[in-house]
Amino acid sequence: MPPLNGKIVTVVLFIAVLLGVLYCYISQSYRVVLSFEERFKASDKEARPPQEVVVTLSRHELHLVSQDYLRYKQPSIVQGRTDVVTVTPWLAPVVWEGTFNPGLLDTIYRPKNITVAVTVFAVGKYIMFLKNFLETAEQHFFVGFRVHFYVFTDRPNEVPQIKMAAGRQVTVMSVPSSNRWQEISARRMEIIQTLIEQKLENYCDYIFCLDVDSKFHGRWGTESLGGLVAVIHPGYYRDERSRFPYERRPASRAYVAHGEGDFYYCGGAFGGLLQEVHLLARTCRENFEADAKVGIEAAWQEESHLNRYMWINKPSKVLSPEYLWQDFKSRNSEVQIIRFSGVVKNYADIRPN
Ligand code: UDP
Ligand code: MN
Repeated sequence: MPPLNGKIVTVVLFIAVLLGVLYCYISQSYRVVLSFEERFKASDKEARPPQEVVVTLSRHELHLVSQDYLRYKQPSIVQGRTDVVTVTPWLAPVVWEGTFNPGLLDTIYRPKNITVAVTVFAVGKYIMFLKNFLETAEQHFFVGFRVHFYVFTDRPNEVPQIKMAAGRQVTVMSVPSSNRWQEISARRMEIIQTLIEQKLENYCDYIFCLDVDSKFHGRWGTESLGGLVAVIHPGYYRDERSRFPYERRPASRAYVAHGEGDFYYCGGAFGGLLQEVHLLARTCRENFEADAKVGIEAAWQEESHLNRYMWINKPSKVLSPEYLWQDFKSRNSEVQIIRFSGVVKNYADIRPN
């Protein structure tokens, strides 16, 4: 019965070819996944973080679930703010008032049960800013969400008692004082790195690192969440990049050449997913220490290193200057709301040097 045998051979061959194609397809997609991980493993200083980040990112960032009962204003695809830029050239949103729906965002993030950590340093006389900072944070910062403030100070006895809402708390951590403000400011990166490693892993999802000499005036909430979040500095956002006070000495690890740089970001507020901020803090700290070994201190300490980092590692969300204004500056028309602002201070009175 040769014809039947022929048919069987044809069918077997066909199945074999099919299996072959299937195998190639599967191993191909594996290779894609592997090379993706491989990139994360690169030991480069500014390499991306390890693979767990992919899992965290997908849980918190990529899958945004809304509720079918929710009714809200129809979003428009042709009308919106025209006085400001709301997306970067690498397609990260720039958060301005009027670009987001706070109620919708809160509904999306509430079931995720997130915890937001905040680091704030109040060393020496800067302890005087803490009360106002914490009290206004209770009124405006992630209201209705779990927030854990970590206060770093050399004066733990002077930390004010603030009544916190349910799910929110303050932990006081002792740090040494210093007679140089530059050192206090710059050592924050090392302390943030250690805090994430020792206390926050598997506990918090996001972290924001904020200056204490500031207070909240308006909502700062879920619209600010992202992988790596940077805040545009209020002092330079209308300027040419040549005027940005980046570190300009090539010998420094914070060096940004003329003609480079996107925006000038604040050292006084940044954040994002824990793993992203960990990599940022570790890298800035390593670069800061490498500079110190050759006797260099970057122009604006950790702010310079942060700006170098963000130039290479683009933030996935950028917060407009609404998120860190300065009280002494009059409000420009594009700033429809001030959410967080640095208070006016007399440097000679409060800094150790
Ligand atoms: N800081 C501090 N004690 C000091 C100097 C600085 O605790 O003596 C901390 C504090 O959190 C402060 C931050 O470092 O907000 C950055 O310093 P500062 O606010 O003076 O810098 P500026 O915002 O004026 O550039
Ligand atoms: Mn400040």
